[in-house]
Amino acid sequence: MPLYRDEAVVLRTHKLGEADRIITLLTRQNGRVRAVAKGVRRTMSKFGSRLEPFTHVDLQLAEGRTFDVVTQAETRAAYAAGFGNDYERYTAGTVMLETAERLATEEKEPALAQFRLLVGALRAMASPDHRPGQVLDSYLLRALALAGYAPSFDDCAHCGRPGPHRYLNPSMGGVLCTTCRLPGSATPSAETVVALGALLAGDWDVVRATDARHLRECSGLVAAFTQWHLERGLRSLEHLERA
Ligand SMILES: [Zn+2]
Repeated sequence: MPLYRDEAVVLRTHKLGEADRIITLLTRQNGRVRAVAKGVRRTMSKFGSRLEPFTHVDLQLAEGRTFDVVTQAETRAAYAAGFGNDYERYTAGTVMLETAERLATEEKEPALAQFRLLVGALRAMASPDHRPGQVLDSYLLRALALAGYAPSFDDCAHCGRPGPHRYLNPSMGGVLCTTCRLPGSATPSAETVVALGALLAGDWDVVRATDARHLRECSGLVAAFTQWHLERGLRSLEHLERA
C-alpha cells in the first residue's frame, strides 16, 4: 500500500471491531480523511492518546481500498489539555470539530483554509486569553464565510445599500435595509450588529469592548446562521444523492 504523510486535527473517532477505531481527520493537504487506527483501543497501543479528538498530529498513512490506515502518529498539540476542566470550552470546541466535519463535505478534497482556521481557533480555545463563546462565534462566522456563505453585517445582504441596518435574517445572508426586510427578521441592537462584524473580521479589540448582553445576542444569531446553512447544506446533499 502506498504511504503518504500529512498533518491533521482529529475531529471524531468511533469504534471498529474489537480493538480498532475509525478516525475522522481534517488534514492540511487532503481535506477530510477517514482512516483506520489498528489496535488503538488496546492498553498498550503504540498510538497512546494521540488519536483522540482535539489533537493536532503528524501522520503517516497507508492508502487502503475503503479506508486509509494510520501507520504513525506524533502529537503536535493536544488542545483538549488546554481546556482543563472547563466544560464550556470543551462543548464549544466540540461544536467547532462538528462544524469543520460538516463543512468539509467531500472526502479528500483539499480544504487548507478551513484546516488553518480550525487550528487557530482550537489554539485560541485552549488559551485563557479569550472567552470560549466568542472564539466559537468567530470561528463559525469565518468557517461559513470560507465555505461561501459570508454573512453581511454592514451593507444590505439583498440590495447592497450601505449600512448600518437593523433587520437581520439568516436565510437572506445578513442584515437587511427597511425596503428589503422580511417579516420575522431579528432586530438586534446596533452594538450587536457591530460586534457580529468584529467577530467575522477577528477584530478582538472591538469584541472585548462589547457588553456581555450584546455578545449573548451575537451568540444566538450566530447559532441561527450556522444552523440555517448547515441544515440547508445537508438538504442539498440529500437531494444530490437522490438524483
Ligand atoms: Zn436592501
